[in-house]
Amino acid sequence: MEAIDPNHISSISSIVRRAILDCLATNQPSPTSASEPQQIFASPEAAALKQEMVRAGRKLWERQYVDGNGGNISVRISPRYVLCTPTLCSKGDLCVEDISLVDLDNDQICGDRPQTSEILLHLEIYKAVPSARAVIHCHPPYATAHAVAGVVPQGNLVPEQEVFIGPVALAPYETPGTRAFAQTVLPYVKDHNTILLANHGIVCWADTVTHAEWYVEVVDTYCKTVMIASQLAPRLNEIPPDKIADLLAIKKKLGLPDPRLPIGDAMDAVDIPAHPPAESSQAASNAKRPANYEVDQLVRRVTSEVLVFLQQTQ
Ligand SMILES: [Zn+2]
Repeated sequence: MEAIDPNHISSISSIVRRAILDCLATNQPSPTSASEPQQIFASPEAAALKQEMVRAGRKLWERQYVDGNGGNISVRISPRYVLCTPTLCSKGDLCVEDISLVDLDNDQICGDRPQTSEILLHLEIYKAVPSARAVIHCHPPYATAHAVAGVVPQGNLVPEQEVFIGPVALAPYETPGTRAFAQTVLPYVKDHNTILLANHGIVCWADTVTHAEWYVEVVDTYCKTVMIASQLAPRLNEIPPDKIADLLAIKKKLGLPDPRLPIGDAMDAVDIPAHPPAESSQAASNAKRPANYEVDQLVRRVTSEVLVFLQQTQ
């Protein structure tokens, strides 16, 4: 079986998107995505997301960002449902069969293994930030060292950090697994995609699991770099303000959150999904044009089904 050229995947995705948007524009009935949790859990889209979670878990473990059964990964597959890793599982050993489905009320709907005890933290983030599609919590040593010391790393030192993460927030300590712990991030989570958790670790959110894992790598490498640089010189050279403005302009185009950007700027800049409709208003919203969130979901699902078909016929 030959691998499909990534350029072809992008082309297929564009064609699917155009077809769906044309369909919506002419009020033709559009294909409907699965709505029952069991259907969602068994869908090709869920299969692809579970594979992505397994890959991210392996990377986290190989980079020593998760210790023992530490760390957890989740992805929001629909406005109400979230795929998540199980409790008591090394992310280096994670399999697609280990992943379960929970709703936003923290009820496990599907999956054989009990959900992670930290899912409350993930759910609070999904409820507070509609554009958050994936959340990773873990214990990377350099970022966790800052969280233990209560030290927020100095900013404006490395372009990648400024563009993808920016100022890092520090949430106060609470007992892991509790609702109080989950809610410690709420004051910060709209303006920051990466938060240090005092005496514990970090949490990152992004549009995909892969990108959330990238942010973990970026922030831990940044914390390590700042620690080493601080041993070389008592005062670190910051990037000049006008050059930081250039980086913020890039960040705005990428649609990433930053407390230095005016409220709403980052989210308006790109095709960030609209606020997922609340379950109670689902019927009302069905009568209108679907939100970008639903179109994105449909594009991913149809594209993955096309890819499975192509792979089977090659
Ligand atoms: Zn933890």
